[in-house]
Amino acid sequence: MPRSYVREARKHVGPKKQRIRPIIERLAAEHADAAIALRFRTELELLVSVMLSAQTTDVNVNRVTPSLFRKYRRPEDYLAVPAEELENDIRPTGFFRQKTKALRGTMRMLIEEFDGRVPRKLEELVRLPGVARKTANVVASELGYTQGIVVDTHVRRLSQRLGLTKRDDPVKIERDLQKLVPRDDWGRFPHLLIWHGRRVCLARRPRCEECVINDLCPSTRT
Ligand code: SF4
Repeated sequence: MPRSYVREARKHVGPKKQRIRPIIERLAAEHADAAIALRFRTELELLVSVMLSAQTTDVNVNRVTPSLFRKYRRPEDYLAVPAEELENDIRPTGFFRQKTKALRGTMRMLIEEFDGRVPRKLEELVRLPGVARKTANVVASELGYTQGIVVDTHVRRLSQRLGLTKRDDPVKIERDLQKLVPRDDWGRFPHLLIWHGRRVCLARRPRCEECVINDLCPSTRT
């Protein structure tokens, strides 16, 4: 079970409704380059990259995908080879048997139900085998159809430390954030928390003294 950071939020810093805008503005200024780290050129490559990124780092996925995408260009290509061949091609991303099954099931559904295209609607994306809500949210958002807020391990930890949610369950955290974050910011908000989480608000040793929102954070150690 991932650790909960809810209890770290103790210091009184005012209501979250008043803090959310300055938090977003300052993080946007600090992490102007915050964007998805996966490399892809097409909507299919985006979907595959995000599916491969489960339980591994984006860097790891980016190492595998250049040759993978040269070999597999259309949904049909993922079904044209034996499963073992695809397993071998994605092996370095881990959980390669599970991921191969999910990829092949997804490709089959794309062909049969979506004309080989990647759907835009969240409720359609989550029907694809192996595509959970987080993956669907990332894909929809990158395609310009943001319908929710991506909650990954960084978004979860920072939202709790910042006192924006007391929940542990990603679906409930997303619901809390949707009530708080302005609709126009749903797409960039997770990127800001992810990059702040990678660079400053580290899981084990948050660098509170160099954090640009430490006066807005109830968990600050300064
Ligand atoms: S690094 Fe910033 S956001 Fe994270 S706990 Fe410290 S003050 Fe809060």
